[in-house]
Amino acid sequence: MTDLGARLSAIDEQIADAARRAGRDATEISRIVVTKFHPAELVRELASLGVREVGENRQQELSVKRDELEALDLTWHFIGQAQTNKAAAIRRSADIVHSVDRVRLADALHRAVEDDSVLDVLVQINLTPDAGRGGVQPAEAAALAEHVLALPSLRLRGVMAVAPLDEEPASAFARLHRVAEEVRGVAPDATWISAGMTGDFAEAIAAGATHLRIGSAITGPRPDRG
Ligand SMILES: *Cc1c(COP(=O)(O)O)cnc(C)c1O
Repeated sequence: MTDLGARLSAIDEQIADAARRAGRDATEISRIVVTKFHPAELVRELASLGVREVGENRQQELSVKRDELEALDLTWHFIGQAQTNKAAAIRRSADIVHSVDRVRLADALHRAVEDDSVLDVLVQINLTPDAGRGGVQPAEAAALAEHVLALPSLRLRGVMAVAPLDEEPASAFARLHRVAEEVRGVAPDATWISAGMTGDFAEAIAAGATHLRIGSAITGPRPDRG
């Protein structure tokens, strides 16, 4: 087996273990492989290993890789901070946008619709007090969710967050779980919780994450961004 294949199956075993410990069914948890900064060739190799869900955090990189790999049966998750003026390009290349964190961005994604398609989106929650980080503050999440619900070309699927560096992931993800419940109060179908990266996916699974975004533990270290 290749190194990549070995790392992928090792992580999938750890996901299954964490799910078992949490009394959860691992088949209900999606593992998105974050391929940012890696060449399209690595995504192709992942696809040959059976990976179907991949994540990118920059619009241009996403668009280029998606075009190059159009023939592969992949679902592309956009997980990065999104500029409003890139909304149309993001909408063309992403199947799911995890990082809707303001009304203006939701509106721009909606206005960019070119056909009768519906784009899956998550509301990103900022679990830090630092407003410069991506995400809406927890107290604003339900209002943003209601705004998204009113935009017919967007389908609100749930919430997304990154754990702060200076806090135990378990307590941060417990907060996220409460925000997710509030959002479900206004949007009962918004059941996804996108949380958990290389360093904290077991804690995320324990706190109810449905979508893990795992990069370096599977891909190996990221090359320097060019
Ligand atoms: C890069 C990135 C990840 C994956 O990070 P790893 O620590 O490499 O697993 C997950 N989520 C977001 C938003 C990212 O930007």
